[in-house]
Amino acid sequence: MDDFYVADFERIVAPEETSLDSDIETSLRPKTLPEYIGQEKVKDNLKVYIDAALGRGEPLDHVLLYGPPGLGKTTLAGIIANEMNVQIRVTSGPAIEKPGDLAALLTNLNEGDVLFIDEVHRLSRSVEEVLYPALEDYALDIIIGKGPSARSLRIDLPRFTLVGATTRAGQLSAPLRDRFGVILRLETYSPDELSRIVRRSSGILKIDITQEGCLELASRSRGTPRIANRLLKRTRDFAQVSGAGEITREIAEDALGRMEIDELGLDMVDRLLLKAMVENYNGGPVGLETISAAIGEESVTIEDVYEPYLMQLGFLARTPRGRKVTPAGYRHLGLTCPEDDNGQISILFEE
Ligand code: ADP
Repeated sequence: MDDFYVADFERIVAPEETSLDSDIETSLRPKTLPEYIGQEKVKDNLKVYIDAALGRGEPLDHVLLYGPPGLGKTTLAGIIANEMNVQIRVTSGPAIEKPGDLAALLTNLNEGDVLFIDEVHRLSRSVEEVLYPALEDYALDIIIGKGPSARSLRIDLPRFTLVGATTRAGQLSAPLRDRFGVILRLETYSPDELSRIVRRSSGILKIDITQEGCLELASRSRGTPRIANRLLKRTRDFAQVSGAGEITREIAEDALGRMEIDELGLDMVDRLLLKAMVENYNGGPVGLETISAAIGEESVTIEDVYEPYLMQLGFLARTPRGRKVTPAGYRHLGLTCPEDDNGQISILFEE
């Protein structure tokens, strides 16, 4: 089983922000709605709300953005502030530890400002309670003193817009969710949209790349702009070292092959996970905890990071009895599905 252990390393295809992105992420962020590629429905709606708020001279309603990591939630929050001509303050649910931290943030805002809270589902209960009157009445209720002499004081706040982002809308408390006037869901991007994102980023980073090169990187980026940008940056290194300069389809294929990212964007760990299930548990159903022990990766990481894309591709299914590798998953590993006509297990290697 030791073969299946996952080494501690930074995944090139991780959708979350890692140290691989820090130097380029800011420079690549679109600043205006027209620069933001894809998500047409979200953009159309947002444009109407922004124009209407600007027309009335009022702040925009509170906005909740939800969807998997790396799809452009933080970017969109910045665009909202930019289009509304206001400042943005950026923080995250876990960073606001006490009600006092939130009070400090809110009292420092200017009229109309955007407060962006990433991972808004991770706000503590006590912080959420302070947030409710702030969102509804632009006011803070502060309790001064303790015991019988305690009294409540109401402080008025500037009218502001909360933009909350979450990867897990289901974990948001109902009272908080109800206080967002605009709820927008971001979808994964098509290869064509990602290819346009790669084209735009290569322009900013001054990287020569052909149209086929863009598409090759796009089709292996798991529908996620952050991964597309990261693959572009990594492939540029390969192109430079090989002396080619320009990224062509061949260079992209070669570079991604060396990074062990296959034509669907699966990396070593994704394949390891499927393989461990097939070889140790006949493809499942197998419980999450068992898979976690088998590959030495935490179960929350498997659930949040690895499984969503494998399920989206239809390679993995969640059943009441556990996880199962699907026939398509077997095929991707170069195996035929185990169940023959008699329902017996027989794994055939195609190669
Ligand atoms: P999230 O907050 O959802 O994790 P980010 O907003 O940080 O994602 O986006 C990750 C990166 O992907 C950013 O650096 C940005 O350059 C790029 N990106 C995201 N969405 C788009 C888009 N629609 N068009 C162009 N680039 C995008």
